[in-house]
Amino acid sequence: MPATLKIDHARYVITVDPQRRIVADGAIVVEGSRITHVGKAAELAGVTADRVVDARRMVVTPGFVNGHMHISYAHCVRGIFPDDVGSPLAHVFALQNAMTEEEEYATTLLGLVELVKNGNVCFLDPGSTKYPDACLQAYQDAGIRVVIGECVIDGESPLALPRYPTAEAIARSAAYVKKWDGRLDGRMRAWAMPFSAETCTAELLSGAKRIADETGTGLTLHHNSGAAARKDYQAKHGTTPTGYLEKIGVLGPNMVLAHVLGIGDDEIDTIARTGTAVAMCPSTAAKGGRGVPQHGRMPELLAKNVRIALGCDSPNNSNYLDMVRAMNMAAVQYKDARQDMKIVPAESALEMATLRGADALGVGADIGSIEAGKKADLVLFDTERPEWQALFNPVNNLVYNADGRSIHSVVIDGRVVVDGGRQSFVDESRLFGTVQAIGEALMARTGISYPRSRWPVV
Ligand SMILES: [Zn+2]
Repeated sequence: MPATLKIDHARYVITVDPQRRIVADGAIVVEGSRITHVGKAAELAGVTADRVVDARRMVVTPGFVNGHMHISYAHCVRGIFPDDVGSPLAHVFALQNAMTEEEEYATTLLGLVELVKNGNVCFLDPGSTKYPDACLQAYQDAGIRVVIGECVIDGESPLALPRYPTAEAIARSAAYVKKWDGRLDGRMRAWAMPFSAETCTAELLSGAKRIADETGTGLTLHHNSGAAARKDYQAKHGTTPTGYLEKIGVLGPNMVLAHVLGIGDDEIDTIARTGTAVAMCPSTAAKGGRGVPQHGRMPELLAKNVRIALGCDSPNNSNYLDMVRAMNMAAVQYKDARQDMKIVPAESALEMATLRGADALGVGADIGSIEAGKKADLVLFDTERPEWQALFNPVNNLVYNADGRSIHSVVIDGRVVVDGGRQSFVDESRLFGTVQAIGEALMARTGISYPRSRWPVV
């Protein structure tokens, strides 16, 4: 008999089901990895379970899906770049390249601790993990769902990205997908992950798409547009950056384009028409000064029903891995940008962080909402905190008042991964010391370091 779990008397269960029901005094019953019942606590009073969680103080949501999250990328050097350095990307890649297997394992563990404690039950790492063999145990221990792949390029790049001859890049991607897809009882998916159209040939991109099509997996690309890129693509390819991707045949439902800033109306049409998904990183766009008022098109993509996931990008871009803050940023930044409070309502932000994001990554049949038959991926927020008061509209309170710190418990695949604010797969204080030491050693080894502050540290 699989273990059973009951979340009982939840103050509210925000189901994100097809009717978008919010169940007051709700209950959820889980058997093994799947939800068997969702409803009023009174209706489910007769259902017993091995473990019953008293959720009277809790608001329960589906687990969050992080659609663009470079894990292991910068945790050990997070926050080192003063604002006046400008884009840290070149240094970030150089530092990451210098990381050893052991270092990547430890920084990945830290990333996973932060992800699960913030209710992220699934994330897509856009190819930054160099040592998947070492990190597999960390994913297993954390119990999280992960979409991984190997970052490859076959063209020029000012960034220190792993470059191979085209055929080798395609062969590596295929071997990677074959080796890793479906591991961890299906919680691990492996995709082709060429870095971007600017750093990869059309041959590599179509090779990656072919792998995704043939294996029933997916692929992701860093993708932006904007006036300069449009001009450049027009001259070189006679179309827009997004039109180019369509022309070479790589768009479609199994493609996730990341960031997608600066796209024009014609490019939005192309994305919608081809059923392509996107992952948008609101806090990266804001912190990077990317000009959301001019370049952000989330409202138009939402209006065309494009599958949009939110992402936290990396510890030196958005810096935080808190999906509640990412939802807040998505909801508020477009209101300000368009000077219109009706844009990107709280409900839309929550949909992107859950069901719409899960659909974007092709896992929406299993996760993203709280429904009987789906996987039990749940986040329990403790409302017994000042920022949750007064509680009348749980979605508004979640998106506008709260942050990840009120997360009490997180269930992934039926397993309670965070319990009463604690995870049990790693000794956090020891890990924090290890990662701090890795950061210091890495900066010393690479010579990439900055003053501890723009202000004197005495
Ligand atoms: Zn990225």
